Amino acid sequence: GCGICPKKCPFDAITIINLPTNLESQVTHRYGPNSFKLHRLPMPRPGQVLGLVGTNGIGKSTALKILSGKLKPNLGRHDNPPDWEDVIKHFRGSELQSWSSPPHSADYFTKLLEDDLKAVVKPQYVDQIPKAVRGPDKSVRHLIESRASLGNADDVVKVLELGHIMDRDITLLSGGELQRFAIGTVCVQKADVYMFDEPSSYLDVKQRLSAAQIIRSLLRDDDYVIVVEHDLSVLDYLSDYICVLYGKPAIYGVVTMPYSVREGINIFLDGHIPTENLRFRDESLTFRIAESADDFAIDRSRAFAYPKMEKRLGNFRLRIDAGEFTDSEIIVMMGENGTGKTTFCRLLAGALKPDSKANVPDMRISMKPQTITPKFEGTVRQLFFKRIKQAFLSPQFQTDVVKPLKLDDFIDQEVKNLSGGELQRVAIVLSLGMPADIYLIDEPSAYLDSEQRIIASRVIKRFIMHSKKTAFIVEHDFIMATYLADRVIVFDGKPGLDSHANRPESLLTGCNAFLKNLDVTFRRDPTNYRPRINKLGSQLDQEQKLGGNYASPT
Ligand code: ADP
Ligand code: ADP
Ligand code: MG
Ligand code: MG
Repeated sequence: GCGICPKKCPFDAITIINLPTNLESQVTHRYGPNSFKLHRLPMPRPGQVLGLVGTNGIGKSTALKILSGKLKPNLGRHDNPPDWEDVIKHFRGSELQSWSSPPHSADYFTKLLEDDLKAVVKPQYVDQIPKAVRGPDKSVRHLIESRASLGNADDVVKVLELGHIMDRDITLLSGGELQRFAIGTVCVQKADVYMFDEPSSYLDVKQRLSAAQIIRSLLRDDDYVIVVEHDLSVLDYLSDYICVLYGKPAIYGVVTMPYSVREGINIFLDGHIPTENLRFRDESLTFRIAESADDFAIDRSRAFAYPKMEKRLGNFRLRIDAGEFTDSEIIVMMGENGTGKTTFCRLLAGALKPDSKANVPDMRISMKPQTITPKFEGTVRQLFFKRIKQAFLSPQFQTDVVKPLKLDDFIDQEVKNLSGGELQRVAIVLSLGMPADIYLIDEPSAYLDSEQRIIASRVIKRFIMHSKKTAFIVEHDFIMATYLADRVIVFDGKPGLDSHANRPESLLTGCNAFLKNLDVTFRRDPTNYRPRINKLGSQLDQEQKLGGNYASPT
């Protein structure tokens, strides 16, 4: 162990070697005796976007609360909290240490207090917004217009595609609509500090890019923008520099010094901080596509097909081209929200009947739905024994699925009390534990942090290859989607109205078509092969567009 926590490390994969020796003098906040402790603080710089990356429970939201002035840091002295003067003195003293660089936290806090900086925050859990809003008029229009003070409301509404829901009551919004509304209400306000806690949840790739664009448009010479984000390609695209948070979730978190965006994300993936000679994760995470092919001797022996289908739901029409697939194959569905990906899953699963006379082959299907609402009374272990006993007792399933997803941490807790990220992992295990030929997995990354996303992708990939099954996966995190996919189905058309699912095609041609539609190009980082979005109009962006290589330079 690292000598900091008395108990066994709850996060087995992490061994911290060479913890900085002066960490004890760098406590920024502790919630109470034996509760979570945050060391150091990320420092926002005026006119730049600060990105924060780290696992769940490591102190990102705590840091935001402190920087917004909502939580006065107690420097670890929860029983005898310091006054602001002491806090500022503490940070002024620590500026001499290597982890901080100008402009200083002390100056930031001085400004926060003296100039009475106004901070606006897009909260992490948008689902809780409707309950929190007071007043008789809960329409999107009223809530946005009553806050608008920057003169950019029309632009915000347009970029975030809020126009058609302006007169809707916010209690009626879907997750993605609520997220865009929440981002919008922050972006129309005149403020000194803008914070976005996980802005990409529920959004599709196009909406994530629009959100990034509107967030960056808030930058002025003298304001601050801070973003917490688990979709690493969005974080990469949004940020000007990055602080990584590491430590032991729920026990303590440490903020690193600021790094360039590329370096910061690579440090997070590598699990090693060169400037502090410190390793915080045993393994380094990479995305080399060849890696997965080498790992499994792929022998695809079974072929399946589904017919051309059509389905109308209210005003929405979905046309599906006939397609074929094999065992040991993962097909990722790429398309905007509202283009019928979930509808396609339900047609394949037989939960919906196509309008055309097409016969969907009778296959054994296991489905992880997009939204997870736990009704089960009992613990996670009891749920597994009831629903997937055979798989759960199999050593192979334990090794391949249960252990890597770290369910042991909460296996004896009541299902009803789990967090979003815990529930998502339970739902993934449940769906993979059902005997089936086809696994339909709708948005597995929702609520997972960047590290859990990578682990979940590997688990799913390994399971499908080892068990010689097929998976259809809906995924908006581009890094995860391209890591998972053997082939892709591209959905195009008008969301919510008229849409079309192409037949499965190669990852390369599918990504090209999908990205071309979005007018976006990607390159790969040479260190860990993660996809990176090219800046619009950059030389690489122009070259790749000319060559038709949207998904990668060659
Ligand atoms: P993150 O945003 O990185 O997921 P948070 O900053 O929300 O992490 O939380 C870090 C840790 O602090 C978690 O273990 C959380 O349970 C704990 N925590 C958060 N708020 C409080 C509080 N008000 N009192 C006690 N513990 C808290
Ligand atoms: P995706 O999963 O790609 O976001 P969905 O398959 O969930 O898309 O939905 C596609 C469209 O069909 C959406 O506009 C949705 O509102 C509409 N829709 C879904 N179910 C119904 C229904 N039962 N009645 C009317 N419209 C529906
Ligand atoms: Mg948080
Ligand atoms: Mg869906």
